[in-house]
Amino acid sequence: MEATISGTWSMGRRIGITSATLAAVAVVASAGTSPALATQDCFDREKKPYTSVVDSHLHFRPFGGQAISFDELTGYLRKSGVRHASMYGIGQTLPVNSDCTYYLDCPGTPVVPSMKNDFVNAGNYMEAKPKDPGLTLSMTFMDLNHPETVPPGISLYDKEFPGMFRWAGEVNLVKQALFPNRHEPATSENIRNWAPFMKVLRDRGMPITIHADIGSDREPTKYLHLMEETLRRYPRNEIVWAHMGLSKELSAMDPDQHIRIVQRLLDKYPRLTLDLSWRVLEDQYFSKPGVRQKYAAFFDRYPTRAIPGTDFVAAGNKDYQVYEEELEVTSRINKALGDEAFRGIALGANYFRLLGMKETAPQVCRAG
Ligand SMILES: [Zn+2]
Repeated sequence: MEATISGTWSMGRRIGITSATLAAVAVVASAGTSPALATQDCFDREKKPYTSVVDSHLHFRPFGGQAISFDELTGYLRKSGVRHASMYGIGQTLPVNSDCTYYLDCPGTPVVPSMKNDFVNAGNYMEAKPKDPGLTLSMTFMDLNHPETVPPGISLYDKEFPGMFRWAGEVNLVKQALFPNRHEPATSENIRNWAPFMKVLRDRGMPITIHADIGSDREPTKYLHLMEETLRRYPRNEIVWAHMGLSKELSAMDPDQHIRIVQRLLDKYPRLTLDLSWRVLEDQYFSKPGVRQKYAAFFDRYPTRAIPGTDFVAAGNKDYQVYEEELEVTSRINKALGDEAFRGIALGANYFRLLGMKETAPQVCRAG
């Protein structure tokens, strides 16, 4: 229908139909549709891609070794239709003297958060200052097991890159995949001691993405209490729960049980947002028979509470095909969403709101 209206409009201009005639045509053409949705600005889900226009969880830096260059990666975003991204470093870097590029390949090698990758990101950003895609720099250096190091770190960033970092994370509260690399879950005492830096984030309205595994297939809710404690202590922080707490280690939780847990926390903590990044969610959960509908219905009930992402890690041995595939796979859930959740998640409305951006997501064109 949009094509008809705009087609009529341009034709009208060319052959000089009076505006009254044109208005009459438009009224007929838009019968049953509100004026706002009758403009060509609405998003037609039938004709346009279902892949998200926001990548809120994108690691511009790898664990170690060569990275895809900044220019190449921003090229991937433009090519795939991603207009906004959060520019994460990586919460776990390998030692500079290690040959390893992926921590799972080198158990025993310690991985720790570092400022190096954030500084490289900030330097690249400063040099290019791209408008398209719009990028949000994130502080990834925070070591949640050593919270006393965080406020001085933020001060250093403020000095070197004043006002430039607008996000925090992804940081690791508990990440089982890193256990062989000497990562340990943060303790209750650690969480209590986050208070000073959580206040800074709160005062600045900065979201923090926290990786907090719920548990493993053997002990499905073993670590849930750590996330709960975080939410209980910091209910006024904008906390984004990476991967909704799912992981490769927790591959077979009953989706109903998982949804119940997450829903309870969303109800209790209005500032909690779900991060739907990582293809593992599609591969292990959404793609299973009957499961997609359960999650889509859940997101439709909470259309403002989730943001999309790929969790792509820009290691130098990957290329555009890998990014495009991860974007497609992590976006498949979008197809099952109702229009409101689609606008909130895939079209970026929730991400823009979380960041206090002026950017608005288009309305979805009404079907029919
Ligand atoms: Zn990640």
